[in-house]
Amino acid sequence: MEALERDLEELGLSSIPEDLSALISAATKKKAGYEEFLASVLAHERAARAASRQAILTRMARFPVPKTLAGFDFAFSPNLDAGLIRELGSLRFAKECANVLFLGPPGVGKTHLAIALGMEAVSAGMKTYFTTLEEMITRLMAGAPAMVSRRMGRYLSCHLLIIDEVGYLPLSAAQAHLLFQVISSRYESGSTIITSNKPVVEWGDYLSDPTLAAALLDRFLHHCHVVAIGGASYRLKDKMDLVAQAKAKKTPPTKRRTES
Ligand code: ADP
Ligand code: MG
Repeated sequence: MEALERDLEELGLSSIPEDLSALISAATKKKAGYEEFLASVLAHERAARAASRQAILTRMARFPVPKTLAGFDFAFSPNLDAGLIRELGSLRFAKECANVLFLGPPGVGKTHLAIALGMEAVSAGMKTYFTTLEEMITRLMAGAPAMVSRRMGRYLSCHLLIIDEVGYLPLSAAQAHLLFQVISSRYESGSTIITSNKPVVEWGDYLSDPTLAAALLDRFLHHCHVVAIGGASYRLKDKMDLVAQAKAKKTPPTKRRTES
C-alpha cells in the first residue's frame, strides 16, 4: 500500500492516497469490477482537482466579500432588468470578451452585482480579478516607472477584470492614462466590469482629458452592456425614517414673511 501511495504521489494523483482505503472498501462493498473501480478513483481525483482550482481562483480573485446573484433582491430594484442580469449571469458576455458597466448612486447594488458575476466566472473556471480603481492606480504608480508594464500584468492576465468605484476621486492625466492603457490592452481580448457613480457624459472632466476619455469610452463601450440602476440605497433601506428626519433638519426654515 505504501509503495502504491508513493507512486500515486509521484504521478501527481495526490488526492487519491488519503482516500484510497475508503475508495477500496466502497468498491469491495459494491462488488465493483476493475473498470468501475478505476473510474471511481479517477472521478475522485478529478473532483479534488476541480475543487482545488476553484479555491485557488477564488483566492486569486480577491473579492472583498462574497456576493451572489441568488442573494440579490430584485424586488428592491424594480426598475432593474432582472432578465438582463440573469443573461449576464450566463457569462456569455465574458466568453465574448464584452464588458459590463454598472451605473448608479451609492448603495444600489453595483458592487454586489459585479462580485456576483465575478463569482459566477470563478465557478466557470475563469481567471478573475477584483480591484477598486484607487487600488489599481496606486499599485500601478508605485515603484519604478520603467516597471509599469510588469505591474500591469495582473490587470491584463485575467479573463475577467472588475474595476470597482470608478468616478469617486478625480484622476490626474497620468492616472487617467494608466486606466486607458488597461482598458485598451484588454479590448476584445478580455472582459471588464466597471462600476461607477458617474454618468458617462461626465467622464471627460473626470479623466481630466476629454480626448483620452473619448478614446477610452470608444473601446470600453464598443461591446458593452450598460446597466443603469436607480432607486434608493439598500444600505439605508431600514433607515429611511432617519434619513428623512436628517433631511428635514437640514432644510433651512422657510423665512417668515414680514408683515407690512
Ligand atoms: P453600490 O456598490 O451600488 O454602492 P453595494 O453593492 O455595495 O452598492 O450594496 C450595498 C449593500 O447593500 C451591500 O451589502 C449589498 O449586498 C446590499 N445590496 C444592495 N442592493 C441589494 C439588493 N437589491 N438585494 C440584496 N442586497 C443588496
Ligand atoms: Mg460599490
